[in-house]
Amino acid sequence: MRCCYDLHTHSTASDGSLTPGELVIKAASAGIAALALTDHDTVEGLAEAARAAAGAGIALINGIEISVTWNRCTVHIVGLGIDPDHPGLLAGLRKLREYRDWRAEEIGNRLHKAGIPGALEGARRFAGDGLVSRTHFAHFLAETGRAKNVQDVFKRYLVKNKPGHVPGDWASLPEAVGWILGAGGQAVVAHPARYDMTATKLRSMLGEFRELGGTGIEVVSGSHSLDDYQVMARLAGDMKFLASAGSDYHGPNNFRIELGHLPSLPASCTPIWHDWPHRRAA
Ligand code: AMP
Ligand code: MN
Ligand code: MN
Ligand code: MN
Repeated sequence: MRCCYDLHTHSTASDGSLTPGELVIKAASAGIAALALTDHDTVEGLAEAARAAAGAGIALINGIEISVTWNRCTVHIVGLGIDPDHPGLLAGLRKLREYRDWRAEEIGNRLHKAGIPGALEGARRFAGDGLVSRTHFAHFLAETGRAKNVQDVFKRYLVKNKPGHVPGDWASLPEAVGWILGAGGQAVVAHPARYDMTATKLRSMLGEFRELGGTGIEVVSGSHSLDDYQVMARLAGDMKFLASAGSDYHGPNNFRIELGHLPSLPASCTPIWHDWPHRRAA
């Protein structure tokens, strides 16, 4: 059976390629009953998504994916059911935006020094009205023929020890979880199998996350393999986390799992939505 919940998706407000409205309509026609829009470090797509959802027969969950630096690793924390107008959350996101804008300039400068001019302007062109992310730099670099595709651009230019890499200095884990809980949401660790961490380090991060009030981890994710589902389902069971499911969809040309095709959570999991009012969507 397919899962009717997709609790991790992106729009043009961050690095997705569909507008919030287009995403919601596509999700509804793909049979998704409850969708969370979880743009990177911004709630700016949520109002448009809510307007589209009202007419489309789909439940929209207000979400976010917050960038965190934990022990020099970048970790992504999803917030579900947040109040997008919460002042504490908005103040935190403003701080992250300042860092992100500075980082974009820094990436542009570093690429310039590496013989690639105009990258910041190019990335901004791809970002449009949304924030500038590495994805937009990657689209620009791919367009100018620096690598064969976006994946390849990341490998050659945008990761550690490559010319356009800037070490992350995002929110702390307590800040991110605090902003989400303060805004009335549930905090979920995004794609936990994707981090560059040993199993011990991952457990230590998850332990801290739980101490702070985090309640869930993504078990089914577009960034996870079938093996990862089983490993993360066991970890959720061991550490008493609720399990979430999200495609991490970024748009039609940029997905690993098509909208509406997420598999169900393994039977041992307690879904993060088990006590939500729109549970009947399952
Ligand atoms: P940023 O938050 O600006 O550092 O951008 C992170 C985003 O870049 C992630 O959410 C992904 O969408 C994308 N990304 C990261 N690594 C890769 C990769 N190896 N290939 C393609 N996209 C990637
Ligand atoms: Mn992304
Ligand atoms: Mn992520
Ligand atoms: Mn994501």
